[in-house]
Amino acid sequence: LVEVTNLKKSFGQLEVLRDITFEVNKNDVIAIIGPSGSGKSTMLRSLVHLEDINGGSIRISDDYLVKDGVYSKPQELKKITAKMGMVFQHFDLFPHLTVLENLELAPRLIKKESLEVIKQRSKELLEKVGLSDKAKVYPSKLSGGQKQRVAIGRALMMSPEILLFDEPTSALDPELTGEVLQVMKDLAREDMTMIVVTHEMDFAKEVANRAIFMDNGEIVETGHPVDLLTNPQLDRTKAFLNRSL
Ligand code: ATP
Ligand code: MG
Repeated sequence: LVEVTNLKKSFGQLEVLRDITFEVNKNDVIAIIGPSGSGKSTMLRSLVHLEDINGGSIRISDDYLVKDGVYSKPQELKKITAKMGMVFQHFDLFPHLTVLENLELAPRLIKKESLEVIKQRSKELLEKVGLSDKAKVYPSKLSGGQKQRVAIGRALMMSPEILLFDEPTSALDPELTGEVLQVMKDLAREDMTMIVVTHEMDFAKEVANRAIFMDNGEIVETGHPVDLLTNPQLDRTKAFLNRSL
């Protein structure tokens, strides 16, 4: 579904991604772990073209977002990035819109579907993330966990083929992480393809089918999450996991 080949990204002189290569198959749940500054967010942001990369290729289904450092035409780019939904650490809801309006905004702007279809889906998705009773509420009245569930519902409104999560629970109080992880587990059970940058090692072991350890802009080690997290092969991975415990 996704093929990333020799992805390179620098900010000025600073090399942030060095030859990142991996692939994502349909129904994969991939956990990305690694220390602060290792390039995890930059990698995710590159996939949805929130960052311009400096070299390498990203293929989504049959289309290249960027091939050997050359991006597709703007209208192609839009079509390709529309296949992906992204959920950020800090929710980034529109504060002046209600929960329901947050969900419906993008599909209403794009106008590919009738309002009826959009309303039906927003209703279903609010139910899925357990927030049917909050439809008319503004984000400021929600807990962090509820906000993040709205953000997940909003990403799902565009019917993405793949969902990207950048530390979706890191900004939450510990007692609120469970409800967000539960929604993500439900999605995994429904065979949603997901890439999840996370520090939640138990979630990675339970839900992901592959884990990727990044350090210093490189993929250092990859494997089944239980193997990688309990029996890492390389010293850099061991050192990171020891620090994270
Ligand atoms: P964290 O776990 O703290 O979220 P991360 O693995 O997501 O870290 P990135 O945010 O991808 O790391 O950052 C990788 C490197 O790129 C860091 O050294 C960071 O300072 C640098 N960086 C990120 N964004 C920019 C930017 N817009 N301009 C310059 N440098 C940047
Ligand atoms: Mg980050």
